[in-house]
Parts: sequence; structure tokens; C-alpha cells
Amino acid sequence: MSLALTGLGVTSGIAIGQVHRLTPGELSIPEYHLGDDAVGSELDRLHKAFGRGEKFLADLLARMSKEITETARDLLEAHRLILRDPMLIEGTAERIRSKRINAEWALVQQADQLQAEFRRMGDEYLALRREDLEQAVGLVRRELAEQPALFVSTQIPHRLEATIVVAAELGPAEMTVLAQRKVAGLVTEHGGPWSHAAILARSLEIPMLVGVHHALDLLDEGEAVILDGHYGAVLAGADESLFAHYREKREASQRRRIELRRYLGRPSVTRDGQAFSLLGNADLLPDFERCREVGVKAIGLMRTEYLYLDDALPDEDTQYRAYRAAVEAMQGRPITIRTLDAGGDKLPAILGFTKGPNPALGLRGLRLSLSLGELFVQQIRAILRASVHGPVEILLPMLTRRDEIRQARNIIDRCREELRAEGMAVDPELPIGGMIETPAAAIDVDHLAGELDFLSIGTNDLIQYVLAIDRSDELVNYLYDPTHPAVLFLLQRIQQAGARHGCPVTVCGELAGDERTARLLLGLGLTRLSMPPAALPAIKKSLLEASAADCQQIVREWLDSSQNSAEQGLLERLSPE
Ligand code: PEP
Ligand code: MG
Repeated sequence: MSLALTGLGVTSGIAIGQVHRLTPGELSIPEYHLGDDAVGSELDRLHKAFGRGEKFLADLLARMSKEITETARDLLEAHRLILRDPMLIEGTAERIRSKRINAEWALVQQADQLQAEFRRMGDEYLALRREDLEQAVGLVRRELAEQPALFVSTQIPHRLEATIVVAAELGPAEMTVLAQRKVAGLVTEHGGPWSHAAILARSLEIPMLVGVHHALDLLDEGEAVILDGHYGAVLAGADESLFAHYREKREASQRRRIELRRYLGRPSVTRDGQAFSLLGNADLLPDFERCREVGVKAIGLMRTEYLYLDDALPDEDTQYRAYRAAVEAMQGRPITIRTLDAGGDKLPAILGFTKGPNPALGLRGLRLSLSLGELFVQQIRAILRASVHGPVEILLPMLTRRDEIRQARNIIDRCREELRAEGMAVDPELPIGGMIETPAAAIDVDHLAGELDFLSIGTNDLIQYVLAIDRSDELVNYLYDPTHPAVLFLLQRIQQAGARHGCPVTVCGELAGDERTARLLLGLGLTRLSMPPAALPAIKKSLLEASAADCQQIVREWLDSSQNSAEQGLLERLSPE
């Protein structure tokens, strides 16, 4: 019988393999009261369990192979920190002492209390912290139950190239082991696209589906399945022709990936001689390595939100280390570091702000940074310190007004002077650019360009605000239209203002990483495109084979036509042959 289960694909890849179900087994939570003489030994049992959990993570970190990425390392380090957190250990110990209850019971009570506090703060970022806490506590619970830390090490077979692992959810420790054993694909019942596991799967390029309800009940051990990340589906009981179809698709995409690499070494010039530049979007260290592999000359966008996922704000030194590692990974190629673009629906509760009635129109991006003074100063100092190690540019998100740029520049100047006074050789010419991603910035772009060294178009937000469609609301997804005349008009306006002011213009939103919209941008005269490294080879081929003059002509006709609706198919006309 065939069965299709749906979930959310975190990567668009295809995997084919046999199901291996990871079932950690329910841990019971024994609850009993202690006699007075048993408290000491119970505390001892608790501390030893914490110690073993931490040692397990330390050993895993020490054994991690190089390809496992900094992200996984950071997550495991975060779990180690939780296992050393006095709020958790001491809070639990105190419950054992005062309530005379056993360690498992006390631990669960203490973890519940911390989770409730996180929930009260109610924030998407803290959802990740809750996930960390749950996973770290799970580790200690297994130790207390003497079912040692990883069901992973005992349950997972060694060779996983043809295996799709199905689990309720996966933590960074499991992901690390699975990636090392080259798992073909992953399916989890819970977790969203921004869970740790999903972030890691993306950075390790492992096909993965999350949120596949009842997957453990519905998929049998050893049965052959197809995982289609693009459509977010797991197909079980498929017939041979469907397997053959997917094998062919997977092989075609592998062949295409290999074939596309041939274009990487070619000069970036269109068929009719128009030069273009392809830059990379990178947040985490492995992304920078991938950008180098595909030969980017610069990083057009380093988002920094990821650094603020922790439950403690990253201090200046922590940020400095992250930026410096990125700068060093790029070996002399410039990096554009965007200052924190938190806010809206990604407002770390730790900052002590509330979301406001309409997060997308609220305190986000540079507005938030300017209102948080000291936090912005720390980030700027960290960026300036990293700039001593290689070329860096600063990018300011969510601009709407000139005075925001002036305020930011004043702070940057002040930080530079302070660092100089502290004896640091900070680059005096460090370029400062702005994201043009609000209608106000796009319409008033001439004034803004006069105050900036470069412009970067955030098409994701620009389209959201111009077309009044919330980018996270699937009900209005159908209105997302990059060929809408209002969008094209503003893109053209930004390009022209950049040219007038000698301000380079880069496009760093999703439009830059799509073969057809990249040609649309070329047709508008936008020739600096920044995209995730995985998209770069296909974009390079698309632009090498394009004629800039033809693209311009097609876009011009479209803008002049009185019937330019999406149905008229501008993108179809720009499609690579
Ligand atoms: C954009 O808005 O296009 C952009 C690149 O920034 P983000 O997606 O991080 O908002
Ligand atoms: Mg944006």
C-alpha cells in the first residue's frame, strides 16, 4: 500500500533509503520521598549524573570530525553550559534538600519551572533555548536512569548512506553522529524549520523533513521510502516506477551540480559582454567555506541574528571571535557584515522588548539597534576589531530615514576613536552601506545614497512592504510577485540612484538566487548579486548564457506595456533556454 506523509522540507534535496526508526524509549520518572539519611547520597547521584552528561558531550566534541561544522560544535557547547548552569543544578539540589524528593522528580520540577519562565517571555528565539534545555535535561535523565546518554551510539548502525532516519526529534548530539555516518536523509515528527536540527541539516546539506506527524507509527523499520524535500513529502510503498523516477531525478540533480561546477572558473561576463559579480550570503562558518569553494570574490551579506540565539547576549569578545573567524575564512576577500536585524517576529526576549501590535512594522533592524545603544556599540566595536584582520564593510538594515544613518555613523565614528585610543589600528575608511528594503528607503533613495558608501537591496522585505504581503503568512503567498510593476519601478529607481551617486548596488534577497529573477535583475541593470553559495553555480550559468541587451529589452517592453500582469509571463520570457 502506498502512503504519502507530509511535513516541511528544510532542504530541497531528495533522499532514497530504508527507514531506521530511532526510538529512545520512554523514560519513566520515578517519584519518591527520601529518608533523612538518603539526602546526601541522592545529591551525590545527581551531581554524578550531571558530570557524566557533561563528559559525554566533551567526548563527543573531542571526537568530532572536521566536516561537522562550527554550528554543531556551538550547539553542543551550549548544552554543556546548561549542564553547568547553577540555576539548573543548584535549583534541583535545593529541591532534593528541602522537599526530600528523589533526583529525577526534582530535576523535572526544576526544568518545568525554567521552561515556564521561558514561555512567559514568549519568543521565537527562546523556543530554541527551551529546546536546548529539554535536550540537556534529557541527557541527565538518561544518566540518572542509567540508560547512558546516547541511544544514538547504541542504536545507530555504522553505515547510513542508504538510510533515512526517522525520529520524534533530533538534538545536535544525534545530528553530529548521524552526519558523521553519512546519513542519506532525516525525518522528524516535531520541530520547525528553525530548530537546531533543521539549521544543521541545511548547513550540512542533508535532505530533511520536519513536522511529519506520527512518522514513527506510520513508517516501518526497514521499509524503502523516498524523501522529497522540495514537496515536503515522504513516500512509502511506492512502486518501482516511482523509485526509478526519483532515482533519475536525484542523479540528474547530482549530474547537474557537477556539470554546473564547470562554469565556476569562467569570467563573469554575459554572452554580449556585460560584466557581472556574484557574491555570497553566509552566516555560519561552513557557509563561508562553501562560498570560497564556489569562488565568490566577496560576501555580500553576513546576517548576524544567529549570534543572538543564545540565552545570554553575545558580548563584544564573543562577537569579535565570530566576525574574525568569518574574516579569516574568506582569506582577504571582503565581507559585508549586517548589524543585528532582530525585531519583528524575531525579537530576543532577553532584550526586554515586547513585540508590539504589528511586528513587521515595529521596532526592528536599525531602529532596534539605535534604541538599544550599548548593544549596538558592542556589535560595532566587535566588527571594527575584526576589520583589523581583513576587509570588512558594515551594512545597516531596515532604513527609512537619513537621520538613522547619521546616528549610526556617529556611533561608528565614536567606537573607532575609542578603539584607536586603546591602540588598535582600525580601518579609517571602512565602508558603510544601507539595506534598501522599505518603500520609504526605495522612494527616497537619492537622499540615502548621498549618505552611504554602498546600497544593498533586500528584495524579501521590499516585496513584502511594497505589496503589503506578510512574508511569513502563507495565505497571501499567492500575491508574491517580483514582476509587479511597483516592484520593478522601485528596483529600477534604486539602480539609477546608485549609478548617479557612484554607490555600488548589490541585491542580496532571494531574487538574486533564482535563475530567472537573476536575469530580471540583469535586465534592470543590477549586476551585483549576492546569494547562498548553493545557488551560485546555476546563477552563473544562467547569466553567462544570457544577453544583457535582450534582458533589458524584454524588461523595458514589459514596463511599457499596458497589460503587464503576472499571467503575461515576464519570467517565462527571461527563462534560460
Ligand atoms: C531581504 O529582506 O531581502 C534580506 C536579504 O534580508 P532578510 O531576509 O534577512 O530580511
Ligand atoms: Mg530584510
